[in-house]
Amino acid sequence: MTNVQELQRIVGGDWVTTKREQIESYLMDEVYVAVRPQPSNDVVVVKPANTEEISKIMKLANREKIPVYPRGGGTGLLGGAVPTQDGIVLSLERLDRVEEVDKDNLMVVVQAGVTLGDLLKAVEDEDLLFPPHPGDEGAQVGGMVACNAGGTRAVKYGVVRNYVKGLEVVLPTGEILNMGGKLLKNNTGLDLMHLLIDSEGILGIITKVIFRLYPRFAGIATLVVSWDDRHAAIRTVPKILQSGVIPLAMEYVERDVIEISAEHLGLKWPAAKGKAHLIVIVSGSSEDDVYSQCQQISDVCQEHGAVDTLIAERKEEQAEILKMRSEIYTPLKSRMADGLDITVPPANVGKVFDAIEEIAKRFGVTVHTFGHAADGNLHPSIMMDAVEKGVFKEVKKEIYRAAADLGGVVSGEHGVGKARLGEFDLYVDAKSKELMRGMKRLFDPNNILNPGTAIM
Ligand SMILES: Cc1cc2nc3c(=O)[nH]c(=O)nc-3n(C[C@H](O)[C@H](O)[C@H](O)COP(=O)(O)OP(=O)(O)OC[C@H]3O[C@@H](n4cnc5c(N)ncnc54)[C@H](O)[C@@H]3O)c2cc1C
Repeated sequence: MTNVQELQRIVGGDWVTTKREQIESYLMDEVYVAVRPQPSNDVVVVKPANTEEISKIMKLANREKIPVYPRGGGTGLLGGAVPTQDGIVLSLERLDRVEEVDKDNLMVVVQAGVTLGDLLKAVEDEDLLFPPHPGDEGAQVGGMVACNAGGTRAVKYGVVRNYVKGLEVVLPTGEILNMGGKLLKNNTGLDLMHLLIDSEGILGIITKVIFRLYPRFAGIATLVVSWDDRHAAIRTVPKILQSGVIPLAMEYVERDVIEISAEHLGLKWPAAKGKAHLIVIVSGSSEDDVYSQCQQISDVCQEHGAVDTLIAERKEEQAEILKMRSEIYTPLKSRMADGLDITVPPANVGKVFDAIEEIAKRFGVTVHTFGHAADGNLHPSIMMDAVEKGVFKEVKKEIYRAAADLGGVVSGEHGVGKARLGEFDLYVDAKSKELMRGMKRLFDPNNILNPGTAIM
């Protein structure tokens, strides 16, 4: 039984609630319908204002062995923030300050509850850039670090992990820990900071983050290149990378799916020809540099069968293309059973596409696949017809098996959460599991922080 009065004493009466209508939206995240975990009914939502209050909450929870579920923006796709036992949902939403944009060090210091949208704005106001862009700008900084989010722009600059330079964390036992700093090099002891990154809220509550920044690109352009056939499009991806241009992003989409997203947003997919498309974003030190990269990519694509290349230079036009890609899930979601996140070595992307197509055909079900082509990270979306035919689990297992056979893993960027625990065994060997469980016990001896998440 959660000690509500003690929580009220710590954060103030206004910031603790048990009223059903006020906690409803904290019981779910963006997890897909066929793998949705069942939330608990007896939940207290607590909204602390600072790190010290979080420390006090954790000391109380640890003493009374109350489960605590850290919650960021609730945009996670795997039920990671869903409270599945009676306990506390600890929302970071009031830790929403951008503390410092440090131009000399090219770093930003942000509280964990700052949203991606607000972070991008604060940094751009100073003419700087935070390159990663996981699709939903409502995600919070703490959630992005806890999930090591990826997104479209990882090809050139990598995932969120590559930007984290310092963390402030509250441990499950309530101690406050600072890791790293405004440092580009740091080899002091075991790297606990990188253990906390991608720990999905099971080892500590992230309360503050120092991110590395870059100068704003002088020029940026988005190409939409079209082919009549998927194989030719996918075969061109390594050719572009081998040409010496490293784009910011290289996304694969198919006309039938991206047009649904466009229509949903009231936009028009700009490519007139072809069925299979690469969205390629390039950045450079000047407009000429960007233009020459676009030309180089366009030439490579023409050599490899592209039927059309469109270059968007205007900011609004580029933003619309990115929006259509980022929100590709939204209109599909009501008919989607599950959206996978497999990753294979980049050169095996074509083979895994073929395998998924064969599996879908054999079971007579619909699987729409799109994703981060240059990262080898694809999102096969298994539609509800697989559930209706009673083959959903088999289809998913076969896709995972095909990815594993090609050297791949269950998750490239979304994580394990609660929804993928069943598949965890497929890829994690017994010794690794033992080590992971040992680390969890060391950080969280009473197993109170986000139990039932990320590891079994
Ligand atoms: C439309 C859409 C597009 C998306 N596109 C991408 C994409 O391209 N790439 C990608 O990687 N992801 C993507 N995502 C998934 C999601 O946005 C990311 O996983 C994001 O990092 C989650 O952040 P959040 O703040 O919403 O976390 P939440 O959903 O609130 O939580 C996610 C996990 O992190 C933990 N957590 C949250 N905050 C903290 C904290 N402060 N300290 C410790 N643990 C914490 C939670 O307990 C939970 O386990 C997408 C989601 C949507 C809805």
